[in-house]
Amino acid sequence: MKLPIAGMLRDVVESLFKRPMTEKYPFEKHPAPERLRGELMWNPEKCTGCCLCSKDCPSNAIELITIDKKAKRFVMEYHADRCTYCAQCVQNCRFDCLNMSNTQWELAALSRKPFTVYYGKDEDVQIILDKQAGAKTPQPKPVTT
Ligand code: SF4
Ligand code: SF4
Repeated sequence: MKLPIAGMLRDVVESLFKRPMTEKYPFEKHPAPERLRGELMWNPEKCTGCCLCSKDCPSNAIELITIDKKAKRFVMEYHADRCTYCAQCVQNCRFDCLNMSNTQWELAALSRKPFTVYYGKDEDVQIILDKQAGAKTPQPKPVTT
């Protein structure tokens, strides 16, 4: 019968000549599996504005904001911190506008702000941001004499 100490010593000596099993993350990264569910991505090209995605989202993580339905001007507001990464919206979109990225998955942040993402044309996103900023600014009370 081998003494346990002998086995331990052999492991120690062997480990001196082996490459470490750990990875140098984040400096070296393995590609993520193809089906990994990372951040939600939206392709507006074929979007009809049906809002099925936002109605079906169990965690209220997406909102499709319509600027001009005829001109197909929509903005998608996505809350990555509410998302459960269930991919229900991806499966339910009949026009293949949504997918979950397998490259954008390092989503940790020190504040909540980066978790709210706006997809759409820059000028349309700006309209929504301006509206939201206006809604948050307290309006002056009318002066009565
Ligand atoms: S379900 Fe698809 S087509 Fe409908 S609003 Fe969402 S992204 Fe657009
Ligand atoms: S992946 Fe699930 S939780 Fe996230 S936005 Fe889509 S339906 Fe909502």
